[in-house]
Amino acid sequence: MGAHVPERPAGPRQPPRGAERRAAPQVDGRHRLPGRVGQVITIKAKVNRAFKTSMEVGINVTVQDVLTNVEKIVSVAYATYVVKPVGAEKIELEPVKLLSAEDHLEHALATERKRIRLGYQEVFQNLMQESDKEDTFAEEDAISADLTHVQSIELVQPPHANHHGNTFGGQIMAWMETVASISASRLCRSYPILKSVNMFKFWGPSVVGDRLVFNAIVNNTFQNSVEVGVRVEAYNCEEWIKNQARHINSAFLIFNSVNDRGELVTFPKIKPITKDSVRRYHGAIARKRIRLARKYMLSAKEDKPYDLWEKSNQAYMSYSNIATLTYLAAKTGWEVTSTLNNIRIWTHEDGDVLSLKVEMQVKTASHVAFSLLSNFTYRQQWDKHFLTCEVLQAVSEDDKIYYITSPPPPMTGHQPRDFVILVSRRQPLEPSEPYIVAVKSVTLTSVPPSSEHCRSEILCAGFQIYSDSSSSCRVYYFNQMTSSLMPYLAANLTGSLNSIEDTALECIKFLELKGSKC
Ligand code: ADP
Repeated sequence: MGAHVPERPAGPRQPPRGAERRAAPQVDGRHRLPGRVGQVITIKAKVNRAFKTSMEVGINVTVQDVLTNVEKIVSVAYATYVVKPVGAEKIELEPVKLLSAEDHLEHALATERKRIRLGYQEVFQNLMQESDKEDTFAEEDAISADLTHVQSIELVQPPHANHHGNTFGGQIMAWMETVASISASRLCRSYPILKSVNMFKFWGPSVVGDRLVFNAIVNNTFQNSVEVGVRVEAYNCEEWIKNQARHINSAFLIFNSVNDRGELVTFPKIKPITKDSVRRYHGAIARKRIRLARKYMLSAKEDKPYDLWEKSNQAYMSYSNIATLTYLAAKTGWEVTSTLNNIRIWTHEDGDVLSLKVEMQVKTASHVAFSLLSNFTYRQQWDKHFLTCEVLQAVSEDDKIYYITSPPPPMTGHQPRDFVILVSRRQPLEPSEPYIVAVKSVTLTSVPPSSEHCRSEILCAGFQIYSDSSSSCRVYYFNQMTSSLMPYLAANLTGSLNSIEDTALECIKFLELKGSKC
């Protein structure tokens, strides 16, 4: 740990050097459990997807207790690396070879995570604009954030660097954690425990001989947790004299603390005074909102009943929409229950969850089928389960929220149903990948349930469309069954009602007829 020195006189700050200079990764991760002394730790990393010049590396850390042999996940993280050309020559990465089903899944979802990363700044700015309208209330016993300011300087030496002479990302992260934890301890007077890391963004490399200046301060506190921000700047000898900093890294770390009795410490409120500290105070709230939403991305496999549509979680909701459909489609153990000309129906049982898959051979180009199926306002034309359909919010070109009304299920005599659904559509980046249209229910506070309709839910549904030739495709329809859909399936299985086949035939007819006019 370096010496704590008084803050450097404020000099002109250089703007962060652009993304093109990023050689080291951006890391986005989630800690689940602590690893303890004596446990066996396994770290697995693999390139999930190589894009043109960037790649996503998935990292899984597990620990095994040697006494019980129980293995648990400690941490899951995704790091993005950008290749840095040596000369003027452009570099394009080779695609990775996908061997297992898991490889295919991660490959598909890496595109979605990239989308979220690219959209992060916009979501953050939107939330900050919202907070500009709010007043910051300073409570009487609130503490000035200045008391938590910590500065430290490290000299990068050869053991801190890799064979290129660049400082190890992990070394910088460790230094940042130490400074941040000292800053947090000023508020709790005990040892803070790192709970989560918002994002480590490596703006540029630092090398052996650089001095790294770490500045940390508490941005905000939330009852039992505190957000500390750390900014790292690098100087070589010349830059040091001229006071020209290179922005290396910024991160936001969340800490808890426990007292002697093992109870979580309550942190005092922060009183932001300067313009910068007010901005960072609101920034911490915006990051917390995004972090809560991100949890659902990193645990998309677990079924979370969290569907309130908000500014902070839109990107993650549409990620989870695509991810849940991709997981469902990739499941093994689908059983064919009926085959008819160009339609095949499959079911999949997983515990008490029953899913349906309908395969349709369509003589229409895949991109045309995609544009027809992803526009739900066409759906009434072929699906009699749709009475009305209206766009409530066009979130983006690829994500829309619809309000749908539907007749009561057969043989129940119930009242008509309604749905508020998010439809997310994605075009493939490679010819072997499918077009995707994913559907799931969301809760909009502006559209509460009404007495005329029974508000119903779609857990996971949608289409995957694979191209077979320039004029034909295979459309797969998926639906994870909720109780409201059971009557259709029950009737179908007993042969008394061919509603699923009928709808599929209508769908094919619609796609071929409309497609021929496109
Ligand atoms: P921002 O100010 O927008 O949060 P920065 O990258 O400049 O972004 O800083 C990241 C975090 O580092 C800040 O939120 C703050 O917590 C901390 N920080 C930055 N500059 C200083 C400083 N001069 N003294 C103490 N902490 C700082």
